[in-house]
Amino acid sequence: MGFGLAVNISPESIQENGVVGAGGAGFPAHVKMRARAELLILNAAECEPLLHKDKELLEHFGDEVIRGMQAAREMVGARKCLIGIKNKYEGVISRLEKILPADFQIVPLADVYPAGDEFILVYDATGRMIPPGGLPLDVGCVVNNVETMLNIARNRPVTRKYLTITGAVKDPCTLCVPVGISVREVIDAAGGPAIADWVVLLNGIMMGRLAPDASVSVTKTTGGIYIFPADHPHIRRYQRSLTQINRIGRSACDQCSFCTEMCPRYLLGHPIEPHKAMRALGFTMDKAALIVGTTYCCECNLCTMIACPEDLDPMNVCAQDKQLVKQMGLKWERGGREIKARPLYPARRTPTKRLMNRLGLRQFENNRGALREGVLAASRVRLPLKQHVGAPCAPVVAPGQRVREGDVIARPPDGQLGAVIHASISGRIASVGDAIEITA
Ligand code: SF4
Ligand code: SF4
Repeated sequence: MGFGLAVNISPESIQENGVVGAGGAGFPAHVKMRARAELLILNAAECEPLLHKDKELLEHFGDEVIRGMQAAREMVGARKCLIGIKNKYEGVISRLEKILPADFQIVPLADVYPAGDEFILVYDATGRMIPPGGLPLDVGCVVNNVETMLNIARNRPVTRKYLTITGAVKDPCTLCVPVGISVREVIDAAGGPAIADWVVLLNGIMMGRLAPDASVSVTKTTGGIYIFPADHPHIRRYQRSLTQINRIGRSACDQCSFCTEMCPRYLLGHPIEPHKAMRALGFTMDKAALIVGTTYCCECNLCTMIACPEDLDPMNVCAQDKQLVKQMGLKWERGGREIKARPLYPARRTPTKRLMNRLGLRQFENNRGALREGVLAASRVRLPLKQHVGAPCAPVVAPGQRVREGDVIARPPDGQLGAVIHASISGRIASVGDAIEITA
Protein backbone atom coordinates (compact mmCIF):
# COMPACT_ATOMS: atom_id res chain seq x y z
CA MET A 1 0.00 0.00 0.00
CA GLY A 2 1.36 3.42 -0.91
CA PHE A 3 0.81 6.49 1.19
CA GLY A 4 1.71 9.14 -1.39
CA LEU A 5 3.10 12.56 -0.71
CA ALA A 6 1.14 14.89 1.52
CA VAL A 7 1.25 17.55 -1.18
CA ASN A 8 -1.59 19.87 -0.18
CA ILE A 9 -1.38 19.55 3.56
CA SER A 10 0.25 22.41 5.45
CA PRO A 11 -0.18 24.22 8.77
CA GLU A 12 -2.24 26.79 6.82
CA SER A 13 -4.63 24.17 5.39
CA ILE A 14 -4.94 22.55 8.82
CA GLN A 15 -5.76 25.95 10.30
CA GLU A 16 -8.34 26.70 7.60
CA ASN A 17 -9.89 23.25 8.11
CA GLY A 18 -10.36 23.96 11.81
CA VAL A 19 -8.50 20.86 13.01
CA VAL A 20 -8.10 20.66 16.78
CA GLY A 21 -6.68 18.01 19.10
CA ALA A 22 -9.54 15.51 19.16
CA GLY A 23 -8.36 13.82 22.34
CA GLY A 24 -10.27 16.19 24.61
CA ALA A 25 -8.36 19.44 25.07
CA GLY A 26 -9.04 20.90 21.62
CA PHE A 27 -5.69 22.59 21.10
CA PRO A 28 -5.54 23.99 17.54
CA ALA A 29 -3.51 21.45 15.53
CA HIS A 30 -1.85 23.95 13.18
CA VAL A 31 0.15 25.39 16.08
CA LYS A 32 1.77 22.05 16.83
CA MET A 33 2.46 21.54 13.13
CA ARG A 34 4.55 24.74 13.07
CA ALA A 35 6.92 23.36 15.71
CA ARG A 36 10.11 21.38 15.07
CA ALA A 37 10.49 18.01 16.78
CA GLU A 38 12.62 14.92 16.54
CA LEU A 39 9.82 12.42 17.25
CA LEU A 40 6.17 12.37 16.28
CA ILE A 41 4.08 10.25 18.66
CA LEU A 42 0.57 9.00 17.98
CA ASN A 43 -1.41 8.84 21.19
CA ALA A 44 -3.61 5.80 20.68
CA ALA A 45 -3.58 4.82 24.36
CA GLU A 46 -7.30 5.57 24.83
CA CYS A 47 -7.17 4.78 28.52
CA GLU A 48 -10.67 5.83 29.63
CA PRO A 49 -12.62 2.63 30.36
CA LEU A 50 -15.29 1.64 27.79
CA LEU A 51 -14.01 3.93 25.01
CA HIS A 52 -13.17 2.34 21.64
CA LYS A 53 -13.14 5.22 19.21
CA ASP A 54 -9.40 5.45 18.51
CA LYS A 55 -9.00 1.69 18.29
CA GLU A 56 -11.86 1.55 15.77
CA LEU A 57 -10.36 4.37 13.70
CA LEU A 58 -7.03 2.55 13.53
CA GLU A 59 -8.85 -0.66 12.64
CA HIS A 60 -10.86 0.91 9.79
CA PHE A 61 -8.76 3.86 8.65
CA GLY A 62 -5.24 2.88 9.72
CA ASP A 63 -3.81 3.80 6.31
CA GLU A 64 -5.31 7.29 6.48
CA VAL A 65 -4.07 7.82 10.03
CA ILE A 66 -0.57 6.86 8.90
CA ARG A 67 -0.90 9.23 5.94
CA GLY A 68 -1.80 11.99 8.40
CA MET A 69 1.29 11.10 10.43
CA GLN A 70 3.43 11.20 7.29
CA ALA A 71 2.17 14.71 6.56
CA ALA A 72 2.67 15.78 10.19
CA ARG A 73 6.20 14.39 10.39
CA GLU A 74 7.15 16.32 7.24
CA MET A 75 5.79 19.53 8.78
CA VAL A 76 7.59 19.15 12.11
CA GLY A 77 10.71 17.56 10.60
CA ALA A 78 10.53 14.41 12.75
CA ARG A 79 13.02 11.66 12.01
CA LYS A 80 10.80 8.93 13.41
CA CYS A 81 7.14 8.22 14.20
CA LEU A 82 5.95 6.19 17.19
CA ILE A 83 2.47 4.73 17.71
CA GLY A 84 1.61 4.24 21.38
CA ILE A 85 -1.21 1.69 21.57
CA LYS A 86 -2.33 -0.75 24.28
CA ASN A 87 -0.68 -4.15 23.85
CA LYS A 88 -4.09 -5.82 24.30
CA TYR A 89 -5.13 -4.69 20.79
CA GLU A 90 -3.10 -7.41 19.11
CA GLY A 91 -5.29 -7.55 15.99
CA VAL A 92 -5.02 -3.83 15.29
CA ILE A 93 -1.27 -3.90 15.97
CA SER A 94 -0.63 -6.77 13.57
CA ARG A 95 -2.70 -5.10 10.83
CA LEU A 96 -0.85 -1.83 11.32
CA GLU A 97 2.52 -3.57 11.26
CA LYS A 98 1.76 -4.80 7.75
CA ILE A 99 1.35 -1.28 6.39
CA LEU A 100 3.82 0.75 8.45
CA PRO A 101 6.55 2.69 6.62
CA ALA A 102 10.11 1.82 7.62
CA ASP A 103 10.69 4.59 10.14
CA PHE A 104 7.44 4.02 12.02
CA GLN A 105 7.43 2.00 15.20
CA ILE A 106 4.64 0.56 17.32
CA VAL A 107 5.14 1.02 21.06
CA PRO A 108 2.89 -1.48 22.88
CA LEU A 109 1.59 0.02 26.12
CA ALA A 110 0.43 -1.69 29.29
CA ASP A 111 -3.33 -1.72 29.86
CA VAL A 112 -3.15 0.79 32.69
CA TYR A 113 -4.68 4.14 33.52
CA PRO A 114 -3.71 6.92 32.63
CA ALA A 115 -1.52 5.55 29.83
CA GLY A 116 -2.67 8.38 27.54
CA ASP A 117 -1.45 11.24 29.76
CA GLU A 118 1.16 12.95 27.55
CA PHE A 119 3.82 12.95 30.28
CA ILE A 120 3.29 9.24 30.91
CA LEU A 121 3.03 8.35 27.22
CA VAL A 122 6.23 10.18 26.29
CA TYR A 123 8.08 8.56 29.19
CA ASP A 124 6.76 5.07 28.42
CA ALA A 125 7.39 5.39 24.68
CA THR A 126 10.80 7.10 24.74
CA GLY A 127 12.18 7.10 28.29
CA ARG A 128 12.27 10.91 28.07
CA MET A 129 10.95 12.90 31.01
CA ILE A 130 8.96 16.04 30.21
CA PRO A 131 9.88 18.54 32.95
CA PRO A 132 7.10 19.55 35.37
CA GLY A 133 4.98 22.20 33.71
CA GLY A 134 6.71 21.52 30.40
CA LEU A 135 5.58 20.27 27.02
CA PRO A 136 6.50 17.20 24.94
CA LEU A 137 8.42 19.65 22.74
CA ASP A 138 10.83 20.22 25.64
CA VAL A 139 12.09 16.68 25.02
CA GLY A 140 11.86 16.79 21.23
CA CYS A 141 8.41 15.22 20.84
CA VAL A 142 5.09 16.20 19.33
CA VAL A 143 2.10 14.12 20.45
CA ASN A 144 -1.15 13.88 18.54
CA ASN A 145 -4.41 12.00 18.87
CA VAL A 146 -5.58 9.40 16.32
CA GLU A 147 -8.59 11.37 15.07
CA THR A 148 -6.47 14.51 14.74
CA MET A 149 -4.16 12.64 12.37
CA LEU A 150 -7.16 11.33 10.46
CA ASN A 151 -8.52 14.86 10.10
CA ILE A 152 -5.14 16.09 8.89
CA ALA A 153 -4.99 13.29 6.30
CA ARG A 154 -8.50 13.99 5.02
CA ASN A 155 -7.57 17.61 4.43
CA ARG A 156 -11.14 18.89 4.56
CA PRO A 157 -13.11 21.04 7.01
CA VAL A 158 -13.79 19.28 10.30
CA THR A 159 -17.56 18.76 10.15
CA ARG A 160 -17.77 15.23 11.57
CA LYS A 161 -16.91 13.62 14.84
CA TYR A 162 -16.32 10.01 15.82
CA LEU A 163 -17.43 8.94 19.27
CA THR A 164 -18.28 5.88 21.34
CA ILE A 165 -21.70 5.60 22.98
CA THR A 166 -21.45 3.27 25.94
CA GLY A 167 -22.60 2.38 29.46
CA ALA A 168 -26.28 1.66 30.04
CA VAL A 169 -27.22 1.98 26.39
CA LYS A 170 -28.96 -0.74 24.37
CA ASP A 171 -26.45 -1.00 21.55
CA PRO A 172 -22.98 0.33 22.46
CA CYS A 173 -21.22 1.44 19.30
CA THR A 174 -18.88 3.97 17.72
CA LEU A 175 -20.54 6.43 15.34
CA CYS A 176 -19.58 9.19 12.95
CA VAL A 177 -21.89 12.19 13.56
CA PRO A 178 -22.10 15.79 12.37
CA VAL A 179 -20.44 18.19 14.83
CA GLY A 180 -23.23 20.01 16.67
CA ILE A 181 -25.76 17.15 16.72
CA SER A 182 -27.50 16.74 20.08
CA VAL A 183 -26.31 14.06 22.47
CA ARG A 184 -29.93 12.83 22.69
CA GLU A 185 -30.00 12.00 18.97
CA VAL A 186 -26.73 10.10 19.27
CA ILE A 187 -28.05 8.10 22.22
CA ASP A 188 -31.20 7.24 20.27
CA ALA A 189 -29.07 6.06 17.35
CA ALA A 190 -27.43 3.62 19.77
CA GLY A 191 -30.81 2.12 20.65
CA GLY A 192 -31.57 4.51 23.51
CA PRO A 193 -30.90 4.13 27.24
CA ALA A 194 -31.24 0.65 28.68
CA ILE A 195 -32.44 1.95 32.05
CA ALA A 196 -35.16 4.36 33.21
CA ASP A 197 -33.27 6.80 35.41
CA TRP A 198 -30.07 7.89 33.68
CA VAL A 199 -27.59 10.71 33.29
CA VAL A 200 -24.99 11.52 30.65
CA LEU A 201 -21.28 11.69 31.26
CA LEU A 202 -19.22 13.18 28.44
CA ASN A 203 -15.74 12.10 27.35
CA GLY A 204 -14.75 9.79 30.16
CA ILE A 205 -15.55 8.16 33.43
CA MET A 206 -12.33 9.37 35.02
CA MET A 207 -11.75 12.74 33.36
CA GLY A 208 -15.15 13.47 31.87
CA ARG A 209 -17.91 15.79 33.01
CA LEU A 210 -21.57 15.43 33.75
CA ALA A 211 -23.79 16.89 31.00
CA PRO A 212 -26.54 19.19 32.32
CA ASP A 213 -28.97 17.23 30.10
CA ALA A 214 -29.04 15.32 26.81
CA SER A 215 -29.77 18.40 24.70
CA VAL A 216 -26.10 19.49 24.73
CA SER A 217 -24.21 19.37 21.44
CA VAL A 218 -21.45 17.09 20.32
CA THR A 219 -18.35 19.24 19.71
CA LYS A 220 -15.02 18.66 17.98
CA THR A 221 -13.64 17.30 21.26
CA THR A 222 -16.43 14.91 22.27
CA GLY A 223 -14.97 11.41 22.17
CA GLY A 224 -17.46 9.47 24.23
CA ILE A 225 -21.00 9.55 25.58
CA TYR A 226 -21.69 7.43 28.65
CA ILE A 227 -25.16 6.61 29.93
CA PHE A 228 -24.98 6.01 33.66
CA PRO A 229 -27.56 5.11 36.31
CA ALA A 230 -28.42 8.38 38.07
CA ASP A 231 -27.81 6.77 41.48
CA HIS A 232 -24.39 5.31 40.60
CA PRO A 233 -21.92 6.23 43.39
CA HIS A 234 -19.59 7.64 40.79
CA ILE A 235 -22.26 10.08 39.63
CA ARG A 236 -22.93 11.21 43.19
CA ARG A 237 -19.27 12.17 43.44
CA TYR A 238 -19.63 14.32 40.34
CA GLN A 239 -22.56 16.13 41.90
CA ARG A 240 -20.75 17.38 45.01
CA SER A 241 -20.08 21.12 45.18
CA LEU A 242 -16.57 22.43 45.82
CA THR A 243 -17.70 23.77 49.18
CA GLN A 244 -18.86 20.27 50.18
CA ILE A 245 -15.65 18.72 48.84
CA ASN A 246 -13.49 21.11 50.84
CA ARG A 247 -15.49 20.85 54.07
CA ILE A 248 -15.60 17.04 54.01
CA GLY A 249 -11.94 16.85 53.01
CA ARG A 250 -10.89 19.17 55.80
CA SER A 251 -12.66 17.17 58.48
CA ALA A 252 -12.16 13.60 57.24
CA CYS A 253 -8.69 13.36 55.69
CA ASP A 254 -6.51 11.21 57.95
CA GLN A 255 -3.33 11.98 55.98
CA CYS A 256 -2.76 8.35 55.04
CA SER A 257 -1.10 9.72 51.84
CA PHE A 258 -2.46 6.90 49.64
CA CYS A 259 -3.53 9.62 47.18
CA THR A 260 0.10 10.64 46.78
CA GLU A 261 1.44 7.09 46.73
CA MET A 262 -0.78 6.24 43.77
CA CYS A 263 -0.59 9.56 41.93
CA PRO A 264 0.88 8.83 38.47
CA ARG A 265 2.59 12.22 38.26
CA TYR A 266 4.13 11.74 41.73
CA LEU A 267 5.31 8.27 40.66
CA LEU A 268 6.83 9.89 37.60
CA GLY A 269 8.93 11.98 40.00
CA HIS A 270 7.04 15.24 39.66
CA PRO A 271 6.73 17.53 42.69
CA ILE A 272 3.07 16.84 43.41
CA GLU A 273 1.73 15.45 46.67
CA PRO A 274 -2.05 15.66 46.83
CA HIS A 275 -2.17 14.68 50.50
CA LYS A 276 -0.39 17.94 51.28
CA ALA A 277 -3.08 19.89 49.46
CA MET A 278 -5.61 18.01 51.60
CA ARG A 279 -3.64 18.78 54.75
CA ALA A 280 -3.49 22.45 53.85
CA LEU A 281 -7.30 22.53 53.63
CA GLY A 282 -7.29 22.21 57.40
CA PHE A 283 -5.67 25.60 57.67
CA THR A 284 -7.73 27.43 55.10
CA MET A 285 -11.34 26.55 55.98
CA ASP A 286 -13.16 26.02 52.70
CA LYS A 287 -10.72 28.06 50.64
CA ALA A 288 -8.18 26.47 48.33
CA ALA A 289 -5.00 25.08 49.85
CA LEU A 290 -2.35 26.89 47.76
CA ILE A 291 0.24 24.19 47.32
CA VAL A 292 2.35 25.06 44.31
CA GLY A 293 2.95 21.43 43.28
CA THR A 294 -0.73 21.01 42.46
CA THR A 295 0.03 22.84 39.20
CA TYR A 296 1.41 19.54 37.94
CA CYS A 297 -1.79 17.57 38.58
CA CYS A 298 -3.14 16.21 35.29
CA GLU A 299 -6.61 15.73 36.86
CA CYS A 300 -6.56 12.02 36.07
CA ASN A 301 -8.83 11.47 39.11
CA LEU A 302 -7.03 8.33 40.31
CA CYS A 303 -6.49 9.77 43.77
CA THR A 304 -10.22 10.39 44.19
CA MET A 305 -11.67 7.37 42.40
CA ILE A 306 -9.22 4.69 43.44
CA ALA A 307 -6.72 5.73 46.09
CA CYS A 308 -8.62 7.50 48.83
CA PRO A 309 -10.11 5.08 51.38
CA GLU A 310 -12.26 7.87 52.85
CA ASP A 311 -14.18 8.71 49.65
CA LEU A 312 -12.64 12.20 49.61
CA ASP A 313 -11.85 14.21 46.51
CA PRO A 314 -8.17 15.21 46.39
CA MET A 315 -8.39 15.66 42.61
CA ASN A 316 -10.83 18.53 42.87
CA VAL A 317 -8.88 20.03 45.75
CA CYS A 318 -5.78 20.01 43.53
CA ALA A 319 -7.74 21.32 40.53
CA GLN A 320 -9.08 24.34 42.39
CA ASP A 321 -5.63 24.94 43.85
CA LYS A 322 -4.12 24.88 40.37
CA GLN A 323 -6.42 27.71 39.35
CA LEU A 324 -5.40 29.77 42.36
CA VAL A 325 -1.69 29.13 41.84
CA LYS A 326 -2.09 30.13 38.19
CA GLN A 327 -3.93 33.33 39.07
CA MET A 328 -1.18 34.25 41.52
CA GLY A 329 1.55 33.56 38.95
CA LEU A 330 3.40 31.17 41.28
CA LYS A 331 5.79 28.57 39.91
CA TRP A 332 7.64 25.65 41.40
CA GLU A 333 11.39 26.15 41.15
CA ARG A 334 13.23 23.06 40.08
CA GLY A 335 16.20 23.88 42.30
CA GLY A 336 18.58 21.63 40.44
CA ARG A 337 16.79 18.41 41.39
CA GLU A 338 16.79 15.93 38.56
CA ILE A 339 13.33 14.58 37.79
CA LYS A 340 13.46 10.79 37.77
CA ALA A 341 10.65 8.24 37.87
CA ARG A 342 10.31 6.80 41.36
CA PRO A 343 11.35 3.16 41.75
CA LEU A 344 7.73 2.12 42.39
CA TYR A 345 6.50 3.68 39.12
CA PRO A 346 6.06 0.36 37.26
CA ALA A 347 4.54 -1.52 40.20
CA ARG A 348 2.02 1.07 41.36
CA ARG A 349 0.31 1.65 38.04
CA THR A 350 -3.43 1.04 37.95
CA PRO A 351 -4.62 -1.76 35.62
CA THR A 352 -7.81 -0.96 33.69
CA LYS A 353 -9.40 -4.15 35.04
CA ARG A 354 -8.91 -2.98 38.60
CA LEU A 355 -10.34 0.40 37.65
CA MET A 356 -13.42 -1.27 36.15
CA ASN A 357 -13.94 -3.36 39.28
CA ARG A 358 -13.48 -0.49 41.70
CA LEU A 359 -15.78 1.81 39.78
CA GLY A 360 -18.56 -0.75 39.45
CA LEU A 361 -18.24 -0.82 35.68
CA ARG A 362 -18.26 -4.57 35.17
CA GLN A 363 -22.02 -4.32 34.65
CA PHE A 364 -21.23 -2.67 31.30
CA GLU A 365 -19.67 -4.52 28.43
CA ASN A 366 -16.18 -3.30 27.66
CA ASN A 367 -15.83 -5.29 24.48
CA ARG A 368 -18.58 -3.62 22.49
CA GLY A 369 -18.36 -0.39 20.55
CA ALA A 370 -17.67 -1.37 16.93
CA LEU A 371 -17.74 1.41 14.34
CA ARG A 372 -20.91 1.63 12.28
CA GLU A 373 -20.66 2.65 8.65
CA GLY A 374 -21.90 6.01 7.41
CA VAL A 375 -22.60 9.38 9.00
CA LEU A 376 -25.59 9.88 11.26
CA ALA A 377 -28.07 12.34 9.74
CA ALA A 378 -29.14 15.44 11.69
CA SER A 379 -32.01 17.80 10.94
CA ARG A 380 -30.58 20.48 13.23
CA VAL A 381 -27.15 21.18 14.67
CA ARG A 382 -25.91 23.63 17.27
CA LEU A 383 -22.24 24.60 16.95
CA PRO A 384 -20.76 26.39 19.99
CA LEU A 385 -18.40 29.24 19.08
CA LYS A 386 -15.79 27.86 21.45
CA GLN A 387 -14.87 24.23 20.87
CA HIS A 388 -11.12 24.68 21.21
CA VAL A 389 -8.34 26.13 23.32
CA GLY A 390 -8.15 29.89 22.70
CA ALA A 391 -10.59 32.69 22.01
CA PRO A 392 -14.22 32.02 21.01
CA CYS A 393 -14.82 32.40 17.28
CA ALA A 394 -16.74 35.35 15.82
CA PRO A 395 -19.67 34.44 13.54
CA VAL A 396 -19.38 35.31 9.84
CA VAL A 397 -22.98 34.32 8.99
CA ALA A 398 -26.38 35.77 9.84
CA PRO A 399 -29.77 34.18 10.59
CA GLY A 400 -31.64 33.13 7.47
CA GLN A 401 -28.48 32.66 5.40
CA ARG A 402 -28.10 29.42 3.44
CA VAL A 403 -24.93 27.39 3.98
CA ARG A 404 -23.49 24.18 2.63
CA GLU A 405 -21.61 21.60 4.66
CA GLY A 406 -18.00 22.78 4.96
CA ASP A 407 -18.72 26.52 4.59
CA VAL A 408 -16.94 28.70 7.16
CA ILE A 409 -19.49 30.03 9.67
CA ALA A 410 -17.16 31.44 12.36
CA ARG A 411 -13.52 32.45 12.69
CA PRO A 412 -11.20 33.21 15.61
CA PRO A 413 -10.58 36.95 16.13
CA ASP A 414 -7.57 38.22 14.15
CA GLY A 415 -4.24 37.20 15.61
CA GLN A 416 -5.78 35.10 18.39
CA LEU A 417 -5.46 31.39 19.05
CA GLY A 418 -8.51 29.43 17.94
CA ALA A 419 -9.97 27.14 15.29
CA VAL A 420 -12.26 27.94 12.35
CA ILE A 421 -15.79 26.51 12.61
CA HIS A 422 -17.62 25.15 9.56
CA ALA A 423 -21.24 24.27 8.83
CA SER A 424 -21.57 20.57 9.61
CA ILE A 425 -24.76 20.14 7.58
CA SER A 426 -26.22 22.01 4.60
CA GLY A 427 -29.20 24.20 5.45
CA ARG A 428 -30.23 27.57 6.79
CA ILE A 429 -28.78 29.48 9.75
CA ALA A 430 -31.52 29.40 12.37
CA SER A 431 -29.85 31.53 15.04
CA VAL A 432 -26.53 33.09 16.03
CA GLY A 433 -25.54 33.58 19.67
CA ASP A 434 -22.86 31.85 21.71
CA ALA A 435 -23.55 29.01 19.27
CA ILE A 436 -24.72 28.91 15.67
CA GLU A 437 -27.77 26.78 14.91
CA ILE A 438 -28.39 25.36 11.45
CA THR A 439 -31.54 23.59 10.30
CA ALA A 440 -31.22 21.18 7.39
S1 SF4 B 1 -5.76 13.84 39.88
FE1 SF4 B 1 -4.78 13.06 41.73
S2 SF4 B 1 -3.69 11.26 41.05
FE2 SF4 B 1 -4.14 12.43 39.20
S3 SF4 B 1 -2.38 13.74 38.90
FE3 SF4 B 1 -3.81 14.91 40.11
S4 SF4 B 1 -3.20 14.57 42.22
FE4 SF4 B 1 -2.24 12.96 40.99
S1 SF4 C 1 -5.97 9.24 50.45
FE1 SF4 C 1 -7.72 10.37 51.23
S2 SF4 C 1 -7.55 10.23 53.44
FE2 SF4 C 1 -5.57 9.63 52.61
S3 SF4 C 1 -4.37 11.53 52.56
FE3 SF4 C 1 -5.33 11.35 50.57
S4 SF4 C 1 -7.25 12.48 50.77
FE4 SF4 C 1 -6.51 12.10 52.85
